[in-house]
Amino acid sequence: MTAIADNATKTCPDCRSLLPIDAFRFRRRGSDLRQGICRACYNTRTRLYRRAKRSKIIRRFAAQLRRERDAKKVTALCARMFARFGGLDKFAAAWKANIDAAPPGSRSALDSYLALFRLVEIANTPAPQPDCSLYTDEELREEMDRCVTAAAVRLLAGLR
Ligand SMILES: [Zn+2]
Repeated sequence: MTAIADNATKTCPDCRSLLPIDAFRFRRRGSDLRQGICRACYNTRTRLYRRAKRSKIIRRFAAQLRRERDAKKVTALCARMFARFGGLDKFAAAWKANIDAAPPGSRSALDSYLALFRLVEIANTPAPQPDCSLYTDEELREEMDRCVTAAAVRLLAGLR
């Protein structure tokens, strides 16, 4: 095996530049094999790959949100995204960046807005009322107590 001279050069197929060998990353730590493309092109490819991956995750999330009818599942879906992106703020920033990057006239931005409106709609939909006809007398009394208590709380809050 021949050692590569310090003054060796290599042409990057992406940017077509003839560059010194140390402008090419090692394939992995401790390896003496270099990447085929230069550091700058490698970084650009990595950035584009990560952006495309984030965009795909967000588009899938928006599509799921638009279809989902169960408020609890919507909450879980949102919680997963917040965890994945490192919090609500970071997720919101990534979603906005995704909308901004959508080509004009594309479906992607519209889908995001539809998902947001769906989120508002779900947040404003009251929880389904229990079917009292299936209750025992005891359960019915408990439900009535809950309703009376809730009404009293609302009344007191209004009087304050
Ligand atoms: Zn290059």
